[in-house]
Order: sequence, then structure tokens, then C-alpha cells
Amino acid sequence: MIDLTDVTKTYVMGDSTVYALAGVSLSIAEGEFAAITGPSGSGKSTLMNILGCLDRPTSGSYRLDGQEVASLSDDQLAWTRNKKIGFVFQNFNLLTKLSALQNVALPLVYAGVEKTQRLEKAAQALARVGLEERKHHLPTELSGGQRQRVAIARALINDPAIVIADEPTGNLDTKSSLEIMDIFCRLHEQGRTIIMVTHEPDIAAYAKRVIHVRDGNITRDECK
Ligand code: ADP
Ligand code: ADP
Repeated sequence: MIDLTDVTKTYVMGDSTVYALAGVSLSIAEGEFAAITGPSGSGKSTLMNILGCLDRPTSGSYRLDGQEVASLSDDQLAWTRNKKIGFVFQNFNLLTKLSALQNVALPLVYAGVEKTQRLEKAAQALARVGLEERKHHLPTELSGGQRQRVAIARALINDPAIVIADEPTGNLDTKSSLEIMDIFCRLHEQGRTIIMVTHEPDIAAYAKRVIHVRDGNITRDECK
């Protein structure tokens, strides 16, 4: 499903070139649950941005379901992203003036789904993460764990094959973190592909594969 071959990403800083990714080759099959770990500045975010079609490689190949991502136009890239990938962020990225239900329904607005159907689907998505009772709450009226569950419901609303999560438990206490990992494990059991960045070994341990990045290279890749 995901095939990176010799991918580099460079940033030009004055006279010098920073290799955020220095020639990464990586395959991730449909249904895998992979954690990406590594020290700060090692290239994890850059790798996630490329995998998530938020950014393109400087060189090398990224094939997603056989499609070469580098050759897509900006519109095609955005379309691929919206159709295939759900994102979960450390800071939840919810809109503060919208209720849980409205936040979850938002991707359906962009997809042109009619309002009644939108709210119905969003309510179902919230029920699946155990938040049906909280659907009219604003993000500020929810705990961190509840906010992240809203974000997960939003990430899943278009039924993406791949979920990309960047430090999904980075702002959560232990109990909420475990609740979030339970949800990810359930999604994995349902066959969804999950790629998660974390620097916490306890959290990485939930994944079935741990990919370690250092200085823009994959230095370890272990399956359980
Ligand atoms: P991580 O997510 O592991 O902390 P990043 O992917 O954010 O690592 O960064 C990898 C390297 O690329 C770092 O040296 C960082 O300073 C550099 N980098 C990332 N983004 C940019 C950017 N927009 N401009 C310049 N350098 C960047
Ligand atoms: P739950 O029934 O999901 O266990 P809690 O008993 O944890 O909910 O929370 C009760 C109420 O307090 C909820 O409406 C929730 O929004 C709010 N709440 C819980 N934890 C926090 C928090 N850390 N910050 C703000 N509000 C919170």
C-alpha cells in the first residue's frame, strides 16, 4: 500500500542543506499498525508529512496504492489525502467555536454531504468512540482524552484506509492515553492501517511494528 524508495527531503538554510530525510526506503502493508520513534529532529514529522500527502519528497519515489505521489498535482494530492488518510494530532486541532458534533461533521461539509446525513453520520462516529452523550459540548467543555476521541471520530468520518497519528497521547494523562490506544487497537483489528509517531516506549509497544528514525535514516525496523 505504502512504498517509499530512497526518499530524501532537504531544506536549504542559507549556504547549507539540511537532509531531514536522507534516503529512506520503507514499505507498509495494508492493515499494519506501525509506530515511528526517534529523537527530536530525527525526521519523524517530515516522514509523516510525506506519508500523509501533506508534502512531497525532494527526490525518490513514494507510491501509495501504486500511484506515484510526486507526479500528482496539488489538487490531486489534496484529493488523495482527503479520500485515503485520516489525521490525528497531539493538540487535537479541533475548532473551538464548534461543538463535538460539528467538528466531526466538518470533513463531510467539504465532501458535499447534505446536512441531515452529515449530522447523522457524525453522531454515529461519536458513538463509536463513546461520546454520544457529549456531542453538543464545545472542546473546552471536554477533557483531553475526550477531545482526542472527537479528533479520532473526525479522522474516521470519511472512512480512510490509513490513520496517521502524530504523538496522539503527547498531551494526555496515563488513563486517557490507554483509552486512546484501546481505540487504535480496535481500529487495527478492523483492518485499518495505522501509523503513529511517538517518543513514549509504552505507547510504541502497542504497535505491531516499531520503526526507529535517526538523523533522517531508518536505523531499526522491528516486527512483533
Ligand atoms: P522530528 O519530527 O523527528 O523532530 P523533523 O522532521 O521535524 O524531526 O525535522 C528533521 C530535520 O529537518 C531537523 O533538523 C529540522 O530542523 C529540519 N527541518 C524540518 N522542517 C524544516 C523546515 N521547514 N525548514 C528547515 N528545516 C527543517
Ligand atoms: P466521563 O463520564 O467521560 O468519565 P468525566 O467524569 O471524566 O467524564 O468528566 C465529567 C465532566 O467533566 C465532563 O463533562 C468533562 O467534559 C469534564 N472534564 C473531565 N475532565 C476534564 C478536564 N481535564 N478538563 C476539563 N473538563 C473536564
